[in-house]
Amino acid sequence: MSILNNDEKQYLLSKIRDVKDYPKPGIVFKDITTLLKDKDAFNFLIEHLYNYYKEKDIEFVTGIESRGFIFGAALANRLKCGFVPVRKKGKLPFTTISEKYTLEYGIDEIEIHIDAFASKNKNPKVLLIDDLIATGGTAKAAINLINKAGAKCSNVCFIINLRFLNGIKLLDKNSEIYSVLEVN
Ligand code: AMP
Repeated sequence: MSILNNDEKQYLLSKIRDVKDYPKPGIVFKDITTLLKDKDAFNFLIEHLYNYYKEKDIEFVTGIESRGFIFGAALANRLKCGFVPVRKKGKLPFTTISEKYTLEYGIDEIEIHIDAFASKNKNPKVLLIDDLIATGGTAKAAINLINKAGAKCSNVCFIINLRFLNGIKLLDKNSEIYSVLEVN
């Protein structure tokens, strides 16, 4: 397991664009598209996450719609794990389990397929990933979904933690949480 040094964190932070007053006044939106389009920065981040998680026996990586899909799918493939999407209500075609939650800017509902974590192992280990944690409502709902679907949400990863909102406090203490970048 390796942690980034300050220069490496600054490097990644410099690739993320702040968009003020989006999607509504008072929100500073952390735009990760500027990191994704930089092949070196994107590769550096995924390789870091691969090294961080490669020995943790993760069986599935779950990403939260939609930016969690980008990091989650890239990392799942690198770890040679399956990828499971958590989607907004009404988007998944098969039988689902759902959970309501509060966002930094609204209320929403997410779903997962009921058989998403079918495995020869009992309670397979799942890594949940999203681009950012704000109030923590989305991640909390996603952890609940993973556990309700018969898996164990052993690890949770955020690229960015908006520390001043204290979202991590809301999360299940049974999951190991890692935020790559802290924003005050
Ligand atoms: P929350 O449930 O409050 O932790 O919100 C987290 C979700 O909302 C994540 O899926 C983020 O992608 C998105 N989000 C919330 N606030 C921001 C922000 N300031 N910049 C970018 N994405 C955000």
